[in-house]
Amino acid sequence: MCKSCNSGAIETPEHMILHCNFAKNFWSNLPVVSHVIAQDLNSDISIKDWISKWIFTKNLLDKSAIVFTTAWCIWKHRCSKVFDNKPLNPRLTANTAHSFADETDSSLVTAVISNPQTVAVNEDNFLNNTPQNSLLVFYDASFDKDTNNSGVGIVATNHAGSFKGCKLVSGAAASPEGAESLAILEAAKWILSKNHQNIFLISDAKNVMAYLNNNKERTSWSSCSVLDDCLFLLKDIHSIRYKHLKRNLNSIADLAAKHSRIEKVTGEWDESIFPTFSKMM
Ligand SMILES: [Zn+2]
Repeated sequence: MCKSCNSGAIETPEHMILHCNFAKNFWSNLPVVSHVIAQDLNSDISIKDWISKWIFTKNLLDKSAIVFTTAWCIWKHRCSKVFDNKPLNPRLTANTAHSFADETDSSLVTAVISNPQTVAVNEDNFLNNTPQNSLLVFYDASFDKDTNNSGVGIVATNHAGSFKGCKLVSGAAASPEGAESLAILEAAKWILSKNHQNIFLISDAKNVMAYLNNNKERTSWSSCSVLDDCLFLLKDIHSIRYKHLKRNLNSIADLAAKHSRIEKVTGEWDESIFPTFSKMM
């Protein structure tokens, strides 16, 4: 029996990926494919034919990465519900599927234009290769130069992209760099309060991450004392790595920061209570 929708339906691959209410909800949260997938959800196509359709139909091929990534995410989330009793949140996980598919796309482009060695070190592969017990902490700052209002967004997921908690802090800053300082400091304090020992701290601020990774000569940032404070705060965490990802891969934190700034929201949510801003994802 299907454990994702409790409808009493038998959990065939077709039910799990296409017909289950959980899967349908998931697909409908992906605007890029929801209109092309709609007919599959109401058909009795077999999984084998369905996969062939997306690989061999010329005008569908460019969407196949996101379609298959989404199918894989549905499977992953069904497993965390069945084996770990984790709540399902189609909206957040659809967002994860989107990021993964973007990465797949950019890796495929890289693969075409360069040699395999380059692909192996491509940082876009990072999210697919994080260790199982790690906590991924994405953070970002948002700043409005007209009002000086700032927002901090910190969103944590596990290696599979499941939501693990978030924190928003709205306030004011003197400059974009000031807002960025607030963000990294809040992220460090939050990590400390989580008591988790295997962390990836992720940001799209390349110079900040380079500084934290001890490439101090590479930063043009003036707020180095804030970064030194963060390094001090986090010095006892067993394993913490600082990772720069491109802006599109950090969009979850970007959205959270913007929401915090615009709606003036401050608060903290754990994995059992999903924040209202997740509706935007
Ligand atoms: Zn079901």
